[in-house]
Amino acid sequence: MNLTAKVIIGMAIGIAVGLTINLMGLNAEGSLINEYVVNGLFHVIGKMFVNALKMLVVPLVLFSLICGVCGIGDIKLLGRIGTKAFGLYMLTTTIAIATAIAIAGSIGIGKGMNATTTSEFSGKDAPALSQVIIDIIPTNPINAMSQGEMLSIIFFAILLGISILMVGKKARPIIDLAELLNEVMMKMVNIIMALAPYAVFCLIAKAMANLGMDLLGQLIGYVLVLIGILLFHLFVTLQIVLKIFSGLSPKIFLKKIRNAQVFAFSTSSSNATIPITLRTVTERMGVGNSVASFTVPFGATINMDGTAIMQGVATVFIANLYNIDLGVAGYLTVIMMSVFASIGTAGVPGVGLIMLSMVFAQVGLPMEGIGLILGVDRLLDMVRTAVNVSGDAVVSTIVAKSEGNLDIAIFNDPDAGTLNTTDVKPLPS
Ligand code: ASP
Repeated sequence: MNLTAKVIIGMAIGIAVGLTINLMGLNAEGSLINEYVVNGLFHVIGKMFVNALKMLVVPLVLFSLICGVCGIGDIKLLGRIGTKAFGLYMLTTTIAIATAIAIAGSIGIGKGMNATTTSEFSGKDAPALSQVIIDIIPTNPINAMSQGEMLSIIFFAILLGISILMVGKKARPIIDLAELLNEVMMKMVNIIMALAPYAVFCLIAKAMANLGMDLLGQLIGYVLVLIGILLFHLFVTLQIVLKIFSGLSPKIFLKKIRNAQVFAFSTSSSNATIPITLRTVTERMGVGNSVASFTVPFGATINMDGTAIMQGVATVFIANLYNIDLGVAGYLTVIMMSVFASIGTAGVPGVGLIMLSMVFAQVGLPMEGIGLILGVDRLLDMVRTAVNVSGDAVVSTIVAKSEGNLDIAIFNDPDAGTLNTTDVKPLPS
């Protein structure tokens, strides 16, 4: 059995076990199961795994991006790839939120419903766009790496790559070293992925055990409409975009992206999923490293289609609930704000709500509305992160194809890059 199958089985069993614990009330505060299993075993293993993934992100992005830039070897080309990726990321996010507002608005979600606020939400400030732009340039690259500031790391790595290229022949050993280190990091991804089925089980079981089922019932309309639009974006919109811009088969794409989606779903973090997304698009889909090393971490930071959809639906929902008419201008502001907000906030769990508070503040919707949807956000965060990561992969594939940097044979080979547990056995000496 290959790893993807095992991971999916781990996820399914995790859902079943977690829901059972929740429905039987075994997750009650102070109960043994809650203390030692859910918040003990599941929590520890899950967290260790997420830590392991995060551990890979910075060195992997750094080395693969240096290799990527040196592999492209041309600064103009680099600019073109960056422009294309940025344009496509903004395009998909705009389509995502526009669809969300249109569908949620025409359904009239939240009208005549009387849900009660259960939790407090104090709006946190998202960084101002000007500051985000300034911060792209790190004052201290080591600091940026230690804080995992993706845009700064990308900037530094690209500049480093360009400088290495400019030094020329003498710098060849550095390129060789970066390539070797990149290969070593990829092996590390394989090792950690081999443990994924168990870790994914723990992550999902814990999340499901903690999910507030009562609240889910109360907000079922919101949850269903949101998940429906997320799936529509994933299976229809993104696939149309893929087909139009690259001509590649959405069916193959959807099959190969599954692994990255499961990781995104169980970690709720596009950033933590970067190692898997990178591995999936390069080794499973044939995207060249010089494109993927740039587009994947860039996308994890600035591209959030799923999050934008959540914001669109949440805005319509809360506006209807409080009988506030935002009007066309209001909704256009929402679209613009959430596209900008997605650039300024990183792909980590729960960041969508911070962005949402920014949008609410802008159009004057009551902050306590966010408290209302807070209880179901954990589950929705998982789903939308899977959509976010799929968007990153779609754009990476399109850009690579348009640059002649995609290996069609790998893309079409169903078995390319599948991981078997034997892959992590050490080589015989
Ligand atoms: N968790 C999401 C991500 O990492 C962001 C969010 O919507 O909260 O992509």
